[in-house]
Amino acid sequence: ATPISMTVAMGQGARAGILFRNAEAIERMRGIDTVVVDKTGTLTLGRPALTDFSAEGIADDEALALVAGVEQLSEHPIAHAIVEGAKARKIKIPAAETFEVINGLGVQADVDGKHVLVGSRNFLAQHGIDTKRWEEQGEAWRTEAKTVVYIGVDGSVAGIAAVADPIKDSTPEAIATLQGLGVRIVMLTGDSQRTADAIAGQLGIDEALAEVLPEHKANHVKRLQAEGHKVAMAGDGINDAPALAQANVGMAMGTGTDVAMESADVTLVKGDLRGIEKAMVLSRATMRNIR
Ligand code: ADP
Ligand code: MG
Repeated sequence: ATPISMTVAMGQGARAGILFRNAEAIERMRGIDTVVVDKTGTLTLGRPALTDFSAEGIADDEALALVAGVEQLSEHPIAHAIVEGAKARKIKIPAAETFEVINGLGVQADVDGKHVLVGSRNFLAQHGIDTKRWEEQGEAWRTEAKTVVYIGVDGSVAGIAAVADPIKDSTPEAIATLQGLGVRIVMLTGDSQRTADAIAGQLGIDEALAEVLPEHKANHVKRLQAEGHKVAMAGDGINDAPALAQANVGMAMGTGTDVAMESADVTLVKGDLRGIEKAMVLSRATMRNIR
């Protein structure tokens, strides 16, 4: 590779909001046939809002207060949505103690003398709490592409909440142009299969892998590589960092975490996924000039 055309390509990329870490990143971009994308914060804005809340055996506002008490100690986008939702309803948020985060599953703490859990169906199941009472409601919300979390209070299920995270305006076009180049799109998310399928359906994404724990994201990239694919991974979170490092080209959202950007070969400054296709076109053109 001649350094000059690489330098020119890096400059062109930078002007389009695509920051290549080095010349190898441009070179490797050319052979990509599979793009793995994280859902929250990558396909979507990553700023969900609380849309639905329902409790039983306890007043809705009282349950939401307990949940917000736990979530005010979490940095997860779901937590932010719930705390903001509680504030919008003028609910006084109580303090929580003995807070614990279980990555990719949920959070728990003691609030107002009660032990409160908030998280996925699997998270509550791991604590011996049956969420069947709310399954039908949960499935209905998931079909609307919402993320659903269950609420456990003192060992039994007390309610359910849903948050909705809008798809970025630029995402549908980004997916369609990549597919036009013959690239396969695989979504990876810690969220439920039904929610993942709803988003994938809206975007025409080829494959959606759901309920993937943070530590397993990189394994999925490895498996695709073992099947002979050249994989670019686009993500924004701390959870995505190992998968970004494993990919042939890791692509971080400039709107995401520093850890993701440090693990990536390319940063899309504004988090606009149309940069993936632009990077591929730039790479192909540059490598053609060199050979
Ligand atoms: P994603 O891949 O969408 O970023 P995560 O791996 O961060 O998802 O989380 C996966 C699932 O774990 C969420 O959909 C939710 O059910 C549960 N979860 C994680 N953190 C929290 C939290 N702070 N409050 C409630 N649920 C949570
Ligand atoms: Mg994310």
